[in-house]
Amino acid sequence: MTDNLIYGPVPSRRLGFSLGVDLVPFKICSYNCIYCQIGKTQQTTIERKPYIPAEQILSQLYSRLQEDIHPDFITLAGSGEPTLNSEISDIIKGIKSFTDVPVAVLTNGSLLMNEDVRTDICGADVVLPSLDACDENVFFKINRPHPDVSFEKMVDGLIAFRKVYAGEIWLEIFIAEGINADESMIRKFKQWIDRMSPDKIHLNTAVRPTAESYVYSVPEEKLAYLCALLGPKAEVIAPFKKKSKNESVPADIRDKILSMLDRRPCTLEDISSGLGCRQNEIIKYVESMIAENNIEALHIHGEIFYQKKGQIIPNHR
Ligand code: SF4
Repeated sequence: MTDNLIYGPVPSRRLGFSLGVDLVPFKICSYNCIYCQIGKTQQTTIERKPYIPAEQILSQLYSRLQEDIHPDFITLAGSGEPTLNSEISDIIKGIKSFTDVPVAVLTNGSLLMNEDVRTDICGADVVLPSLDACDENVFFKINRPHPDVSFEKMVDGLIAFRKVYAGEIWLEIFIAEGINADESMIRKFKQWIDRMSPDKIHLNTAVRPTAESYVYSVPEEKLAYLCALLGPKAEVIAPFKKKSKNESVPADIRDKILSMLDRRPCTLEDISSGLGCRQNEIIKYVESMIAENNIEALHIHGEIFYQKKGQIIPNHR
C-alpha cells in the first residue's frame, strides 16, 4: 500500500490549480531527460504494469476530493511516466464516475507508439505530451530514451494519437540553450508539429533545478522569437499568476508546505498561490523552517526555490 499518491492542488503554469495523482512510484520512466526535476532515471523502462493498482489510487483520490478543495484539473503525472501504469484507462474511467473535474494526462509521449496506450488515455479531457526533439540526434541528447524508443516511433505515435483522440492536445517543448534552441531546429519542429496538429503548443525552458547542471534556460526574448516561428497556437508558458485568496494561515501550515515541497522545489509565489495565503505570511514559516534545518533555499537562474533539506524531488511540470 503506497500512501500519499495525491498531492496538491499545486499551482501549475498550464493547468491552474492542479490536483496531482502519482500513477507510478519514483522513478519509473521511459526517458532520462537532462532537464528532469526529479533527477536521473536509474534504469529506463517501457514495461507496462499496475505499478500502483487503480483501486488504491481511486480510493485515495475519492477521499481527498471529499475535503474542501476545488482543483481546476486532476492531473495524472507524478514520479515518472504515468502511461506505464497499465491500469490508466480504469483510473480515468473511475475518476469520471465520481467527479466532473476534468482529467489531464501529463506524458512524455513515448508510449503513444503503442496502440493500447493511445486507446487507454482517450477518456482524458486533455493530454499534454512532450516533444523536445526535432530529430534523432537531439532526441538522444535531451530525452535519453529507453533503447526500444526511437525518434521515428515516438513522432509516429504522436501523429497516430491525434487521429484517434477527440480531446485537447497541448504539446510541450522544452527548449534548452545549446541543445535545441536554434532557429533551424525550430523550423524542423514545425514540420513535425504540423503533422501532429495539437490544439496548443507550450514552450518551456529551465526555470527549475534540472537533472544535469549543463541545462541552460533560453532568454525570454529569444524564446518569444522562437515561439513566433511556430505559429499562432504556440505560446511561452507564463509564470503562474493566480492571486492568493485567503488571508488566514491554516493551523497545519508547516505540514502543507512540506507536502508541496515533497513534489518539487517551489518559489515563495508557488507556495503562496498553492496554499492560498499571502507571501508575507508564508515567508515567516519558510524562514523558521530553514532555521530549523527542515528546508533549504536554492538559487537557480536568478530565482529562489525552496526544497526539503537534501531531498530528491518528484516531477510536476
Ligand atoms: S522529465 Fe518526465 S519524462 Fe523526462 S525523465 Fe523526468 S519524469 Fe521522465
